[in-house]
Amino acid sequence: MKGVVTKQKSDIGTTTFTKKSLGLETIEPAVTPPPLSSNTSFAKKPKLGVSKSRKKDIPEGIWTNCPKCSSMLYDKELDDNLKVCMKCQHHFPIGARERINSLVETCTFEEMDVDMTAVDVLKFPSYPDKLSKYRKSTGSKDAVITGIGSIGSHRVALGIMDFTFLGGSMGSVVGEKLTRLIEAGTDKGLPVIIISTSGGARMYEGMFSLMQMAKTCGALAYHARNRLPYISILTDPTYAGVMASYASVGDLILAEPGAMIGFAGPRVIKDTTQSELPPGFQTSEFLLDRGLIDAIVPRGQMKTRLEFYVDFMLTGQKHLASLGA
Ligand SMILES: [Zn+2]
Repeated sequence: MKGVVTKQKSDIGTTTFTKKSLGLETIEPAVTPPPLSSNTSFAKKPKLGVSKSRKKDIPEGIWTNCPKCSSMLYDKELDDNLKVCMKCQHHFPIGARERINSLVETCTFEEMDVDMTAVDVLKFPSYPDKLSKYRKSTGSKDAVITGIGSIGSHRVALGIMDFTFLGGSMGSVVGEKLTRLIEAGTDKGLPVIIISTSGGARMYEGMFSLMQMAKTCGALAYHARNRLPYISILTDPTYAGVMASYASVGDLILAEPGAMIGFAGPRVIKDTTQSELPPGFQTSEFLLDRGLIDAIVPRGQMKTRLEFYVDFMLTGQKHLASLGA
């Protein structure tokens, strides 16, 4: 998996090996250790459990190592470049709020259903703990932010998923917030734009999660009946129940470069089919070649391209209306 995910970071942080746990305190040195000034290879040998990687020497929050080209990137410059590597254009994960700021005109975004929160209907063990943990770490109530804002001169209904909240999983709140957003778009005659990133349906809500697939697509069908455009933007990663519902039914489907997109993951498919997967399998470039997505749009160009597409689709609609179609 590309990029850095907060959850992975914290998981790594909790795994520590102490000298005591290895029982090393009971081992006596076989020979008298040479003096510290000695220049032998024995003296240089790093101690167990205290080896330092180069990464650890780098102060956190100042530099980031690009996983694609290995360049060291100054965080401030990386943020200014919308978290896209200045050297190789690798797209790092970006927060939902940052994305809104990069797309919507200043002070035009009116957020909807801010306080909607998930309920542990199935009494799934540890689900309430996980919810409160991610609410604290992300500052969000769930894995999607919805609202109405302006992109260029057009008002749009905009939904942005947040992968850092439980892997962007779609539970009842994500499904309900998106459905209300789509219905608001239908009522107000606005285009809908949903930016997806998700591992799929939220297992802690079982079938209630799966029902969101039909609900969101039903709302989109009513939206389409009103001849309003829906643009789906796929970002890294978009998988499973989300890809199998609203993310793949856009009138226009865009993707960020290098995004991993699919239903089941490549490892599962490889194990199931017992065959080698073609190079670049499930990347946005691979899917563009095969017609699943319409265009790959770099993050820095997304705002201007969306302005153009929305303008084009609405103008076309007006033109058709004038022809009586
Ligand atoms: Zn790079």
